[in-house]
Amino acid sequence: FFPVLLHILVTQKSTYTTLPSVLLVGPSGAGKTALLTLLERGPLSAPAGEKPSLTGPASPAPTHTSQAPAAVELAVSTDGTSSFRDDLDATGATAKRFLLIDTPGHAKLRRLALSHLSPAKPSTSPTSSYSATPKSRLKGLVFVLDAAALADGDALPATAAYLYDVLLALQKRASGAKGSKPPPAIPVLIAANKLDLFTALPAALVKSNLEAELGRIRKTRSRGLLDSGVGADDDVAGIEEGDDWLGEYGSDKFSFKQMLEFDIEVEVVGGSVLGDGPGADRWWKWIGQRA
Ligand code: GDP
Repeated sequence: FFPVLLHILVTQKSTYTTLPSVLLVGPSGAGKTALLTLLERGPLSAPAGEKPSLTGPASPAPTHTSQAPAAVELAVSTDGTSSFRDDLDATGATAKRFLLIDTPGHAKLRRLALSHLSPAKPSTSPTSSYSATPKSRLKGLVFVLDAAALADGDALPATAAYLYDVLLALQKRASGAKGSKPPPAIPVLIAANKLDLFTALPAALVKSNLEAELGRIRKTRSRGLLDSGVGADDDVAGIEEGDDWLGEYGSDKFSFKQMLEFDIEVEVVGGSVLGDGPGADRWWKWIGQRA
């Protein structure tokens, strides 16, 4: 008997229709699988109160390259304050259970991750068994990125482009339900991972670099619209105002605060899954409070 409070329930489809879920997205190599493994197996690899080691009996699951996302069932105390290392069964705490769903980071498979975010049509893909989940059960989205890779600049445009698509999908989700009640807002945690590496950018810089790059992408993608002289105040038939424009329409600089207009809270928090870094506790807390 292991003090298991977390069970893999990938095969039990019925859970997908009942449990709230949190989605892990982000580019390949960011650490999504490592994070999922840590949160799932933390209690197995270290006694409560100690830092779990991923080199122990619970080695990280290999990054999955198939289309099928991995999902694990996790539990947090109902007040959201328990650690992922706590054995909730042993402490007798009442727990709320939720799913953490990993998605493939590979660019060609990202549509699958984004398909979770459009409320209208559930995916018909036979590989995404959770696609029938009522979208209202999606409680949060964690965008994992490699803060060390961002430091050399090369990874910034690609990472930001993916983040742009994710945020735009959420924005459309929020603003698409015109007239009707909008679906429950999905908050976003940007998990700046690998802060154990001294080359990694601190969270504040990750945030400002992303905001600058998202602003650049927004300008580029809307160039056609801007060049045609369509401004924020123009009402042109056939052009939905700011259709693909992320954040405050017509604004010069992008900031994550602009997403609040669509009820989307975005937070950038640094951490690490491996090595001697700040750890994953702040991410876990964010997830536990929203699940
Ligand atoms: P995924 O593609 O997003 O699922 O990324 P993985 O979880 O497979 O991680 C990619 C690589 O980054 C692996 O070699 C991990 O061991 C490594 N990695 C993940 N998290 C950390 C971290 O916090 N610090 C360091 N130094 N490496 C990490």
